[in-house]
Amino acid sequence: MSDDSGNIKVSDGMVVDLDYTLKVDNEVVDTSEGRQPIKFIQGQGYIIEGLEKELYGMKAGEDKQVVIPPERGYGMVNEEAILDVPKDEFPEEIPLQQGTELKVETQEGETMDARITSVAPDSVRLDFNHPLAGKELHFSVKVNEIREATAEEIAHGHVHGQGGHSH
Ligand code: ZN
Repeated sequence: MSDDSGNIKVSDGMVVDLDYTLKVDNEVVDTSEGRQPIKFIQGQGYIIEGLEKELYGMKAGEDKQVVIPPERGYGMVNEEAILDVPKDEFPEEIPLQQGTELKVETQEGETMDARITSVAPDSVRLDFNHPLAGKELHFSVKVNEIREATAEEIAHGHVHGQGGHSH
């Protein structure tokens, strides 16, 4: 493989225009197909760390398959983040059924996302783990475009213009 120095590569501070498809357990869980590609500044943690790391050195037009283990994706499943909560602690308007997603306020006033994973006669099992925790992530990505971020974009921490912020 020759290294054509005329080609810019993905590195910190570059705006990357990326198409991606994420598969978990052989099912597509997220994709840019049929939507806009994502645009972000490389090196700022806009995408998950394990994937960002794999993009370094890629050129425009290049595609790649990336497999990311849970530790570098959404983390391992934390058993302590799975709780059985008595049904009478839930407000009436919340449908107590498997798959319901809700926000729970902690004693410190923080809001956390949780999901109901099962329902027993008197209690409901709440899972505070990320839905993709413990999962191996299979990405296929394609770098469409790479350009240098402007000083303003670096300062704001996001991409301006088409596909980015319009201000
Ligand atoms: Zn801005």
